[in-house]
Amino acid sequence: MRGIIHDLTSALGAEKVAVDEETLTAYAVDQAPVLDYQLPQAVVRAETVEDVQAVVRACAARRIPLVARGAGTGVSGGAHATEACVVLSLERMNRILDLNPDDETAVVEPGVVNADLNAAAAVHGLMYAPDPASYKQSTIGGNVATNAGGLRCAKYGVTRDSVLALDVVLADGSLIHTGHQTFKGVAGYDLTGLFVGSEGTLGIVVGITVRLKYLPREVHTIAAFYPDFRSAAAGVLAVGRARVQPAIMELLDGGSLVQLDEAHGSDLASRGASLLLIQTDGFGAAAEAAAIRPVLAAGGAVVTMEPNAEAEQLVELRRHSRGVEVDDQYRVGEDVAVPRSRLVDYVAELEAMAVKHAVRLKVVAHAGDGNLHPTFWVERADEGVDPGSLERLGAALDESVTVALAMGGTITGEHGVGQYKLRWLGLEQKEPVRELQRRIKELFDPAGILNPGKAI
Ligand SMILES: Cc1cc2nc3c(=O)[nH]c(=O)nc-3n(C[C@H](O)[C@H](O)[C@H](O)COP(=O)(O)OP(=O)(O)OC[C@H]3O[C@@H](n4cnc5c(N)ncnc54)[C@H](O)[C@@H]3O)c2cc1C
Repeated sequence: MRGIIHDLTSALGAEKVAVDEETLTAYAVDQAPVLDYQLPQAVVRAETVEDVQAVVRACAARRIPLVARGAGTGVSGGAHATEACVVLSLERMNRILDLNPDDETAVVEPGVVNADLNAAAAVHGLMYAPDPASYKQSTIGGNVATNAGGLRCAKYGVTRDSVLALDVVLADGSLIHTGHQTFKGVAGYDLTGLFVGSEGTLGIVVGITVRLKYLPREVHTIAAFYPDFRSAAAGVLAVGRARVQPAIMELLDGGSLVQLDEAHGSDLASRGASLLLIQTDGFGAAAEAAAIRPVLAAGGAVVTMEPNAEAEQLVELRRHSRGVEVDDQYRVGEDVAVPRSRLVDYVAELEAMAVKHAVRLKVVAHAGDGNLHPTFWVERADEGVDPGSLERLGAALDESVTVALAMGGTITGEHGVGQYKLRWLGLEQKEPVRELQRRIKELFDPAGILNPGKAI
């Protein structure tokens, strides 16, 4: 056991290799439920590409599992430590290496925090569009490895749509460059696209070239409060039928509004039982907002245009809605997506599931993408949660996944499979496809050291 730690400290110096219990514990899990708690043997905080190569080579030589880690905000257990692994933290590799306003591209190290890249781009009237609600903490490397989505993805696409090129350390410690600096480029197989979303199982991402978009000069925010959740979901389709493309189209049900009010002192629940929050942006923002408002009102919404400060607060509240931790509740939640045409049906099914399994429900959704985060919960009494309600929560959760699949949906819209969602993967992907994925993994990582037991 001491062998790998000796190898790592000799190669990188003791300062970059932590073995104290406090650090091992802090880096053992991400923000997903923990199914199989393991402490890593060591946490290495790499500072250079050469550091990463040295760590990979040391682990490869001894066949030690290696778990890459950004900010650890993942919610699927992708960054959970596995047995006797080394955790490789990329958080110190946080430099923006280049930002070219004419090419509209940036080259960053993997540990750059999403919000920091956006702040740097904003100086030039540009933005890095994919904005997970965790944008103030999560790293571009983590976003790439999970193919993260976010609020603005309704208009601007997910992480994969913004990644042009990657530098990747492979399982033998060699360094490759994939992709191109240009917006277009179709030479050979799309390895960049393959690495995006591969959850640290095919290589360690050490450099990312991203495409930037124009920071909109004008943004209009519409809050549409509905008397019920299904009508709000129908509002999403109505906006689509009007053929207007909002930048943000987020849906919150009554349970989420109540919880946000309790946590942040807002008064959202008094305004309606469900909120459809829409932002239009760009030079056509006002015209688009004007086209959307009557469409929403016709569907039964009370529609208001939010002045800038209130709008910003509403969007920030939406970003916080996932992170609201309540000690007196026990919760299970998911990240399914359904075809948009099935949104209303799916929302109705979720409400029926909550009644059937006698659990409570709250839902937030990147509704423009048909991507929902339903959470089932029960109150936690002083004596804990009775096993019966745990079973009911589990049954509701499973049903929320199988119903989404039956509607042509997916088990994960943006969070990745990680460790947590492996149990449902076989329901979505049939064996020939899974076998092909295992063979790809074997090609890139024959010894199986890169984040084993995750993603596929
Ligand atoms: C409050 C909150 C809100 C969130 N909102 C969203 C949202 O709107 N949209 C969304 O998509 N997700 C969301 N998430 C989930 C999470 O923030 C994203 O999955 C994010 O992309 C993870 O980034 P990270 O830097 O924290 O990566 P980590 O959690 O550290 O790692 C995630 C995965 O990437 C791998 N990895 C990390 N860095 C590298 C690298 N350099 N090379 C190879 N593999 C690597 C890890 O092994 C792991 O499998 C949210 C999470 C929270 C807590």
